[in-house]
Amino acid sequence: MDRLHTLLEHNRAFVENREYEQFKTDKFPGKGLAILACMDARLVELLPKAMGLKNGDVKLIKNAGALITHQWGSVMRSLIVAVYELRAEEICVVAHHDCGMRAIDPNKVLAHAQERGVSEETIVTLRGAGIDLDNWLKGFDNVADSVRHSVHTIRNHPLMPKDIPVHGMVIHPSTGRLEVIVNGYGEGEKAAAPE
Ligand SMILES: [Zn+2]
Repeated sequence: MDRLHTLLEHNRAFVENREYEQFKTDKFPGKGLAILACMDARLVELLPKAMGLKNGDVKLIKNAGALITHQWGSVMRSLIVAVYELRAEEICVVAHHDCGMRAIDPNKVLAHAQERGVSEETIVTLRGAGIDLDNWLKGFDNVADSVRHSVHTIRNHPLMPKDIPVHGMVIHPSTGRLEVIVNGYGEGEKAAAPE
């Protein structure tokens, strides 16, 4: 069976057996949190478990690297909506060690795109149209600096209220241990969960 039909087969049984009942909640985050995290596959279950989160507890936004690439992009919009319309009272940025977006090479990504059939002409055209592909595909060199930068972008967004604590953390992708890079309450930086 292909991937789509495997998913659909599981889904049919899931709904039929009313397995959804254990996940019943509403759209408001019970813990008053919005989290921006990396899409890394190791964090799918580990991150919520390591942070003590259940269905309904948080607004969870995910992308490659837990990055905010644009002040007016969809991540920032999601956070603004979460705060004003969906009762998020604090924000956490959660990046992780060993992230695929660390030191990613835009040229390599574009070479892979060409191997998969995207023409060089397309890439040249995009660059000619003023799209800065290298910057757009760029990840980060240092995970802590990247988290600080994201926190700074959120805190200083003109539409973000000043009274929202914005925390920045790095999670270990094997143990789930959290390291605080920015304490959004202003209680000093670089605290860590006890060993
Ligand atoms: Zn990652």
